[in-house]
Amino acid sequence: MNLPTSRQTLIVGGGIGGLAAALACSRAGSRVALFERTPVFAEVGAGVQLGPNVMRLLHGWGLQAAMARVAAFPERLQVRSAVSGTELGVLRLGDTAVARYGAPYATVHRADLHGVLLAAVQEHPSVQLHLNQAVQSFQQQADQVRLQWVNGQGALSDMSGDVLVGADGLWSQVRQQLLGDGAPVATGHLAYRGLVQQSTLPVHLRSQQVTAWLGPRLHVVQYPVRGGEWLNVVAIVHGQMNGPAENWDHSANAADLAAHLAGTCATLQDLVQAMPDWRLWALNFRAPMRNALEQARGRVALLGDAAHPMLPYLAQGAGMAVEDAHELGLALAQAADQRRDMTALLARFAVKRWQRNARVQARAMRNGQIFHATGWLRWGRDASLKILGERLLDMPWLYAKV
Ligand SMILES: Cc1cc2nc3c(=O)[nH]c(=O)nc-3n(C[C@H](O)[C@H](O)[C@H](O)COP(=O)(O)OP(=O)(O)OC[C@H]3O[C@@H](n4cnc5c(N)ncnc54)[C@H](O)[C@@H]3O)c2cc1C
Repeated sequence: MNLPTSRQTLIVGGGIGGLAAALACSRAGSRVALFERTPVFAEVGAGVQLGPNVMRLLHGWGLQAAMARVAAFPERLQVRSAVSGTELGVLRLGDTAVARYGAPYATVHRADLHGVLLAAVQEHPSVQLHLNQAVQSFQQQADQVRLQWVNGQGALSDMSGDVLVGADGLWSQVRQQLLGDGAPVATGHLAYRGLVQQSTLPVHLRSQQVTAWLGPRLHVVQYPVRGGEWLNVVAIVHGQMNGPAENWDHSANAADLAAHLAGTCATLQDLVQAMPDWRLWALNFRAPMRNALEQARGRVALLGDAAHPMLPYLAQGAGMAVEDAHELGLALAQAADQRRDMTALLARFAVKRWQRNARVQARAMRNGQIFHATGWLRWGRDASLKILGERLLDMPWLYAKV
């Protein structure tokens, strides 16, 4: 797209969502100022799965080659019982996903995805990146929105723009001012995340596929990242973490995780014990979005976890942030026409996005109940997976073009 750079978009947050938004908005012809409170861009040392719905958009932004250099493209997703180790079902990925959905299923280190987006953003001279700037507040006015932030030296600054995008994550400041709906809710679920170089693992533990191990009140997901050279493992169990929930990242105690996994099969226990280091997260979420006003009001839009934090049981939180960014770009492409009302464009963006985001949030919650099922529900789940396999595991409503 080659549109006049006229409108000014202000973005709070330089995570995957904020950078995707910066890229989509600058491609749509907007000037972008992005504010990130940390002094350097950084991402958590963990992996992320990206369905074909997300990869299709990244390819559309010209990132196919860059993603191919850093991602892994698993041939299949296998579901196994965490207790017996038996295979419950398989979803073919690889060429099958490309044939079905026009893009691959990828698994990638978050820092690599973040790096690909950052490099793409930096190629756009219309984007200014402001690090070490913590956004405090904003004011909506008739013809603009004004943003205040504090820089690394503690000085207050401000800037006006046509629209403001809150991509400031789970504990979003922008959301609090816009919606005032309180803090996210603790789920009572904990996520242990680990990464290991595959060459250091015994051969029987190395893997180039996605494996989801389902057990009572727990599940574990493993997949390759960094071109397949590293293995990412996420174990989710029921439990509480001591300390304030805002402190997302804690050094985890491998012994605690081992206790949670007592009673699981030997292969899974071997894998967990082979991991050199675990990081621990308490999982928080919000109920699914109820209307478009939770996605945008006036000149302010919310995007990614700021708008719809979700449980990671559908592996689509970052995916929905990328989809939000894409739709925002489509809306702002129309803003090059100076007669277009920005609030109407953002309202249209919100109408386009909120129901899909709500559906994905709800499905992620339901997956949690199914993955962690006990008793008869667990029996029914395993039987259904064995009989229906791919028909249960494939999700055309999610992966196909919307
Ligand atoms: C265990 C786990 C596994 C997951 N697996 C997957 C997966 O496989 N696939 C998937 O798609 N998703 C997955 N997710 C979800 C995904 O990680 C998130 O949905 C996604 O990272 C959200 O990105 P974001 O940019 O919206 O928010 P964030 O990544 O939280 O970024 C917000 C940014 O805003 C900045 N910020 C905050 N406040 C301010 C302020 N006041 N001023 C300036 N800057 C500010 C922060 O420093 C940060 O850089 C997983 C999540 C978890 C916990």
